[in-house]
Amino acid sequence: MVRQFLDTPIEFLKGVGPARAELLKKELGIYSFYDLLYFFPFRYIDRSKIWKIIDIDNDQSYVQLRGKISNIQEVGHGKASRLTAWVTDDTAAMELVWFQGHKWIKEALRPGVEYIVFGKPSWFNNRLNLAHPELEPASEYEKSLQVNLQGIYSTTEKLKTRGLGTRSFVKLIKALIPQVKGKIPESLPAYILERLKLLNKEDSLVNLHFPENPQLLQKAEARMKFEELFYIQLKILKDKLDRQTHIKGYNFSKVGDFTNRFYKENLPFELTGAQKKVIREIRHDLGSGHQMNRLLQGDVGSGKTLVALMILLIALDNDFQGCIMAPTEILANQHYNTISRMIDGLGAEVALLTGSTPVSKRKPILSKLEDGSLHILIGTHALIEDVVQFHNLGLVVIDEQHRFGVEQRAKLWLKSATPPHILVMTATPIPRTLAMTFYGDLDLSVIDELPPGRKPVKTFHYNESARLKVFGFIRQKIKEGRQIYIVYPLINESVKLDMKALIEGYDAIVRDFPLPEYAVSIVHGQMRSADKEYEMQRFIRKETQIMVATSVIEVGVDVANASVMIIENAERFGLSQLHQLRGRVGRGADQSYCILMTGDKVGDDAMERIKTMVMTTDGFEIAETDLRLRGPGDLQGTMQSGMIELKLANLVRDEKILNYARSLANEILGEDPHLSSDKNKVLKDNLEKSERDFIDWSVVS
Ligand code: ADP
Ligand code: MG
Repeated sequence: MVRQFLDTPIEFLKGVGPARAELLKKELGIYSFYDLLYFFPFRYIDRSKIWKIIDIDNDQSYVQLRGKISNIQEVGHGKASRLTAWVTDDTAAMELVWFQGHKWIKEALRPGVEYIVFGKPSWFNNRLNLAHPELEPASEYEKSLQVNLQGIYSTTEKLKTRGLGTRSFVKLIKALIPQVKGKIPESLPAYILERLKLLNKEDSLVNLHFPENPQLLQKAEARMKFEELFYIQLKILKDKLDRQTHIKGYNFSKVGDFTNRFYKENLPFELTGAQKKVIREIRHDLGSGHQMNRLLQGDVGSGKTLVALMILLIALDNDFQGCIMAPTEILANQHYNTISRMIDGLGAEVALLTGSTPVSKRKPILSKLEDGSLHILIGTHALIEDVVQFHNLGLVVIDEQHRFGVEQRAKLWLKSATPPHILVMTATPIPRTLAMTFYGDLDLSVIDELPPGRKPVKTFHYNESARLKVFGFIRQKIKEGRQIYIVYPLINESVKLDMKALIEGYDAIVRDFPLPEYAVSIVHGQMRSADKEYEMQRFIRKETQIMVATSVIEVGVDVANASVMIIENAERFGLSQLHQLRGRVGRGADQSYCILMTGDKVGDDAMERIKTMVMTTDGFEIAETDLRLRGPGDLQGTMQSGMIELKLANLVRDEKILNYARSLANEILGEDPHLSSDKNKVLKDNLEKSERDFIDWSVVS
């Protein structure tokens, strides 16, 4: 409704005009009054504070000082030229420098006049200076000083040199606010505002730009963050509820021959308590008459494959087919081998289908799948292809799901009139806040226990100078009959340099570990998949003692006799990747080792990753550190869930607000599942509206 006014194009704001409007659109995506209103400061400074130049060092992110300008001059020629000036107060002098927009600035500066200078101290030419500061004559500053806290807007260099620095934003927004006052509808119901003592929307928006005082700023932030997180949770939980009530699922009521015989005759070990617990949870879903959508989370080596298999057997007992989808061919192969072996003699038919399955083998697989004589299909995303048609698909297991997009998941639904039950398995521990936000539509089961007898992997960090020692250690372990992984980073397998490092590494290893005493396998993403499989099999059969690989072995690979994992250039791997790689060892009863090799110079973040690895094997602790170091946006990208953009809330810092938002959303839907009561009308309207606009929750009004 009133949004129409907020949609007014930005050029109609006083002080903008066509040229500036063009810049705002291009540089910041600000097209309308609305966009400008939601362009929040990224931090605040105490505007009443004037620094003495003598106290400034580059610890301060922003400073404001007061002094006279002198010595304005251009230095250098052409592109390398810059404009410098000095500002002097009663304690010292400081250099100001501009690399762009000289002419305009030079004309505007008045030597001898007192200015308020605002900027970020940084080192240049061996001295501390302010690059591209913003200046305002001191007399004007005094006139405009009404509030102490001033927002800092993250504008671009280009905007700054065209006179659109943070202070100009202050002016623009100051012009905007009186116009939009009274036209910003409240987007939360009154009872929520009251119960949580939240600031109303208009005051929140105004205070985010012009905080009256620190307390009100905090309230404004809290309200907007709450709103942002609350609407996401409300949507996720409502969708889930709708699905549960409207979408029927197959009822797997029986436990039959397949399961019973497997349990009695084939199960090689006792299930862990955690495995039993999650199997119970899953079975409850399968018999509920609703479609299951469950995330099974369990650290590397916790035995998810076995859980998946037992669930598949229940599907078979109820005359349904099942499939497992894995992210790589190596992993699909491995699942196929493991599962074929485990269900040997039960009379269940299993097949493997990947991109490299030859046509001659494909045909019989596909026709058996359609007539129902094939029970379990294991493969890569080849399974999604339209030609793959099941007779009656009842259960889909997706392994290591962070590599599958939401869309791919959805496609599997279409393979069956009633949607199959879906079990998503991941070893990447997802911090709770992320799980709630990005997988909030899935029910969660956690395997929080490793099979007995596992010893935590011992982890060490070495640099090149310890190379000989490390090689000595490898020799000794091989002598004891163990096998070794050596992993090289290959961030992008098409990058030639990465490839060169891997091949050189391989050559060096072969030189140090020569035939006939030693044999070395190599596996990387650019090999043909038959070759990859051949090399893997040689390693599995213990014909080779060392496996040189890229992170293609990161997920899932299971060779219990391998007890040493060496990671080269460990500083180049992300934390969860390191954790995954380390999870390849420590699968047997032997003590296993992970050795992180780095260069001498390692950046701070990389060092923290390495230290974390050395200190802990707890996947959840590692995930939390990862989230803190990388920030949720990055993880969000990794998880291919880029549809939710948080403007203010932060999944690391605002966990409490998130928890509260989720539980309130739950409570409200419990009372009023369709949000049909009067008091929830605004919630319902906003949800529907956001469905159309998909999807910036915080800005729904
Ligand atoms: P992940 O959860 O990482 O996929 P896997 O399913 O590959 O783990 O299992 C890791 C190893 O643990 C496998 O070798 C598997 O056979 C073994 N395993 C699984 N469950 C048990 C159990 N209950 N007792 C002993 N070993 C088990
Ligand atoms: Mg696995």
